[in-house]
Amino acid sequence: MKFSGLRVIKEALTGHKGWKPLWRDPAPKSHYDFVIIGGGGHGLATAYYLAKVFGKANIAVLEKGWLGSGNIGRNTTIIRSNYLLPGNQPFYEFSMKLWENLEQETNFNSMVSQRSIINLFHTDGQRDAYRRRGNAMKFSGADAELLSQEDLRQLAPFLNFDNARFPIKGGLRQLRAGTARHDGVAWGYARGADMRGVDLIQNCEVTGMKIEGGKIIGVETTRGYIGAGKVGVAVAGSSSRVMSMAGKRLPIESHVLQAFVSEGLKPTIPGVITFGAGHFYVSQSDKGGLVFGGDIDGYNSYAQRGNLPVVEDVLEGGMALMPMIGRARLLRSWGGVMDMSMDGSPIIDRTDVDGLYFNGGWCYGGFKATPASGYAFAHLLATDTPHETATAYRMDRFARGYVVDEKGVGAQPNLH
Ligand SMILES: Cc1cc2nc3c(=O)[nH]c(=O)nc-3n(C[C@H](O)[C@H](O)[C@H](O)COP(=O)(O)OP(=O)(O)OC[C@H]3O[C@@H](n4cnc5c(N)ncnc54)[C@H](O)[C@@H]3O)c2cc1C
Repeated sequence: MKFSGLRVIKEALTGHKGWKPLWRDPAPKSHYDFVIIGGGGHGLATAYYLAKVFGKANIAVLEKGWLGSGNIGRNTTIIRSNYLLPGNQPFYEFSMKLWENLEQETNFNSMVSQRSIINLFHTDGQRDAYRRRGNAMKFSGADAELLSQEDLRQLAPFLNFDNARFPIKGGLRQLRAGTARHDGVAWGYARGADMRGVDLIQNCEVTGMKIEGGKIIGVETTRGYIGAGKVGVAVAGSSSRVMSMAGKRLPIESHVLQAFVSEGLKPTIPGVITFGAGHFYVSQSDKGGLVFGGDIDGYNSYAQRGNLPVVEDVLEGGMALMPMIGRARLLRSWGGVMDMSMDGSPIIDRTDVDGLYFNGGWCYGGFKATPASGYAFAHLLATDTPHETATAYRMDRFARGYVVDEKGVGAQPNLH
């Protein structure tokens, strides 16, 4: 079914009887050429591009819960390509270009909204670093502009400009950045993959990997054994757990990250704003709620919920940046499990097990990467060569000393 305004009108006039489920609910087959473990954004996008761009068939996505139950449905929905390093910037700009056409491509309303992001700076040194970042962005074809304090006073008068400790001196803006409806992204890719024959199998947890003579030949699941030609792992917060089934130990730790939403307010926040002197970022949803977050909880966990000290820490950041947030009531908060890599950058690579491929280490930046990550992983699975924008994301970079340390703050997950 093609979605369109006309279709909505037709269904409205005929009692909404024509809508169909967005995807089938098939039973698993005994063998697939490609098995993707993980029905989050990255797994679904991988299956979609494998079928659509690389013309592959006989593909399954195995998801232990329901599609979109992981971080893809838990993040704060920010998309941007304001990275500095050569290993990162072209990849995230590629992702941004895919975002810009995503809804037309998948014929699904994922509410991609290029409402901009502003990273605030508070010192002269930080301004220089942001100017450098902006120049690097422009080199890879992205947009960037430096805003003065006067510009910001016009755009966001509610900010605490004259805070004695963290005066706001200006900001780096990317106008093409913004937000997208996170679960709508999962549903759009799922529907697109299903339409191209991909079997999306929910409630199907992978519990083991069958490896013979150094080659993976299938996976054990809660719905029985499934044979596989190639297996791609895209399980985000469960990366270490799933890869241990193949005897692998990853340079990744799992940590909780929380997000928060306030009661609905009138339109206030112009796009996404990030605090440069602490870890706090905020946007406003189309329903009016302020959507914000900050640091990870700082201890290893597989629980999809966080603890109160970080709630306090995040809200302190919010109060320092925009004291009026103290008048808003917090509506809800939740957590997701982040796959924190030791340099803050992802891994998209083959493994030394023939036919086993890995995609993970997204830390808390993987939502914006969803389209490019899916595309690059599909490229790797289909051609056995890395996509041109993802060549830095090799597993062995930690052993070889070629880390992609975007923030330059050291190999500690609690500093990223
Ligand atoms: C609170 C929060 C805020 C965030 N904010 C942002 C943001 O603003 N911008 C941004 O770019 N990123 C953000 N992120 C990060 C982003 O959400 C993740 O990096 C990204 O979603 C991870 O990729 P994914 O969508 O494939 O993960 P997931 O949706 O977690 O997908 C992995 C899937 O694998 C499944 N799985 C696990 N184990 C197995 C198994 N054994 N068998 C079968 N299936 C299995 C899980 O059930 C899950 O559905 C945020 C994350 C959180 C939690």
